[in-house]
Amino acid sequence: MLEIEEYAKKYNIPIMQKDGIEFLIDFIKENNIKNILEIGTAIGYSAIKMANVSDDIRITSIERDENRYKEAVKNISKFNLNDRVKLINDDAFNVELSEDFDLIFIDAAKAQNIKFFQKFSNNLKENGFIITDNLNFHGLVNSEEKLSRNLRQLIRKIKNYIDFLKENNQYETIFYNIGDGISISRKRG
Ligand code: SAH
Ligand code: MG
Repeated sequence: MLEIEEYAKKYNIPIMQKDGIEFLIDFIKENNIKNILEIGTAIGYSAIKMANVSDDIRITSIERDENRYKEAVKNISKFNLNDRVKLINDDAFNVELSEDFDLIFIDAAKAQNIKFFQKFSNNLKENGFIITDNLNFHGLVNSEEKLSRNLRQLIRKIKNYIDFLKENNQYETIFYNIGDGISISRKRG
């Protein structure tokens, strides 16, 4: 695991922060989550952490970047998780899944969160959860700092997503100021 963390640091790969991943793992334990869909594998760090919670957890994880996907394949093999973690190398918007999941973890392109939510909520079980990472975006979402135009647009989209979650009556969402900002949305039964 340390090796993966060091690789991520070296190549600037935005894996989950320590307290964020611990929070996610505890949530998976407490809620008896078994089937997980992850949007944004990167090099497999969070997928491995989640899979290691229990032997009967299954994960499907999507990554569009080929190099990261390949690195993830290696890492998943090292941890002997091939039979429980299925990796897909494609843009998530091209992926159609027929299966339903207990948990959908959105951790990909931050400007696309609403679209990911809308597309994949079709693959959520009744009373399932959608968890989203990086809602603080390194503290920039609520900062007064002068930002570039691109960054301002991205921050606006993250704020739009937060409003979208707050206004979505089909889900009950709680926001946690943990890691880089995490939301948990529970589908109302
Ligand atoms: N969940 C990982 C980190 C993911 S980083 C961990 O914590 O270990 C976000 C990743 O999402 C990046 O590698 C990026 O290439 C990928 N990504 C962004 N948009 C995507 C899309 N539309 N489809 C698939 N992957 C995407
Ligand atoms: Mg993240």
